[in-house]
Amino acid sequence: MSAEQISDDTISEIEQQLASDGVWIDPSFARTHDISAADEAAIEEAVASAQSADLKVVLVEVDSDDERFQGSFANLSAWLHDDAGGDATYVGWNRWSEPHLSVQSFGDQPDTMSVANVANHEHPDDVADQVVRVQELLDDGNAEAIWWEVPSDERYSWTADEGIQASEVVGGIGVVAALAAVVAGLVVWRRRRRLRPSGFTLPSTVLHTIRAAEDKRLRQQADTEVLALGEAIGSGEPGGSAAALEAWQQALDHYAAARSILSQEAAPADVVGALVLARRGDDARAAAQEGTPGAWRAPVHCWFNPLHDGPTREVTWRGGERDDDRAVDVPACAACADAVRAGREPDDVLDFIEGDRTVHYFRLDLGPWSRTGYGSLERDLLGALRAAGAGRRGSAG
Ligand SMILES: [Zn+2]
Repeated sequence: MSAEQISDDTISEIEQQLASDGVWIDPSFARTHDISAADEAAIEEAVASAQSADLKVVLVEVDSDDERFQGSFANLSAWLHDDAGGDATYVGWNRWSEPHLSVQSFGDQPDTMSVANVANHEHPDDVADQVVRVQELLDDGNAEAIWWEVPSDERYSWTADEGIQASEVVGGIGVVAALAAVVAGLVVWRRRRRLRPSGFTLPSTVLHTIRAAEDKRLRQQADTEVLALGEAIGSGEPGGSAAALEAWQQALDHYAAARSILSQEAAPADVVGALVLARRGDDARAAAQEGTPGAWRAPVHCWFNPLHDGPTREVTWRGGERDDDRAVDVPACAACADAVRAGREPDDVLDFIEGDRTVHYFRLDLGPWSRTGYGSLERDLLGALRAAGAGRRGSAG
C-alpha cells in the first residue's frame, strides 16, 4: 500500500512535534506495539529529563519500499537531522535489524554503543520501556559494561542454529567450530568499534541515501557469490592429493564463514568480509579441483580496497591525512599503486559510513578486517578471525 510511504506532510508533522516535546509516535505504530497514552507520557518524561543527550524519539515503521528511507531508520534520522541541525540523538524503530530499536547520534552526544542492545534485551516485548531505558543508559554511560555481562549465547542466540545449518549444507567436519570462532571474532570488533572521524562531510541524507543503495547492491552481490560457491562445492570433488584435500577443506571453511556472516542482517563491513571470504573460498575450490601441486595459499589483493581485482605490487603508503600516520608497505592493485606512486590517494578506497561522514575502513577499528586489511597484510584471514574469537573467549573466562 502506498500508505507505507512517509509523506512530506508526515515529515513536517514529525519535525513540529520534535521541536515541541521531542516525541512523535505514529498512531498505527502505537496500535501495533501497544503503546498507551500513559506509555507516551512516560517517553515524553524520559526525553524531558535526559541529562547528557539531546533525545528525539520517532516511532514509525519505515517500509523497505519507502523510496526515500528504504526501510532504514538511519536514513530517516539523517533526513530529520539535516533539516533540524544541531547535536541530537534519535531513537527509532528499524524493521530489519536486530534489535529493532535504533539509536543514531549526530554531533556532540554520548556514546550509543550497545545502548539499543541492552534496552532490547531487558525489555524484549515493550517498546516504551525500551525507549525509557535508552535515556537512563545514555545518562549513566554504562550500556557497554552491562552488555558484556550478558551471557554470550543470549547476545547472539542465532549462532548455534546457523552453524548446524551451514554444516549440513557443506558436510564439512570442523565447520561448526570454525563458524563459532568466526562469529565470536566479529563480536570482538563490534565491541571495540569506535568512530575515528576523518575525511569530508556530505549532507547526511545524500550520503545515507547513496550508501543505502550501494549497501543493498553489495549485499546482493555477496549473496549471489556465496550461493554460487556453495553450488560449486556441492557439485564438485577435490583431487586426490593431500594438498588438494587441504585446499578443499579451506574452501568449505571459507564458505561456511561467509554464509554465517550473511545469515544475519550484516553490517556493510561484514558483507565485504563475506565477499572476500567467498572469493578466497572459490580460489581454494578451484585449486582443489584442478589438483594444483603444493599447499593452497590465499591470493593477495589490494589493501586499499579488497574488492579490487588484478595483480598487486607493493607500495609505501604514508596516510596523507594525518601527521601521526606511519608509513606502511601494502599490496596495491595497478590503479591504486599508480595513484600512490604519483603522490595521490587512490580514488576508490573502501570506506564506511559513520554517523554523518565516510571513513576509510583502515581508520576504523573493524577488528580482524581492518587489522589484516581484509587479509591483504595477513594472508590467513580465517585464522585471524578464529584467533580473535579465541581471544574473546579467553578473556571472558
Ligand atoms: Zn586498488
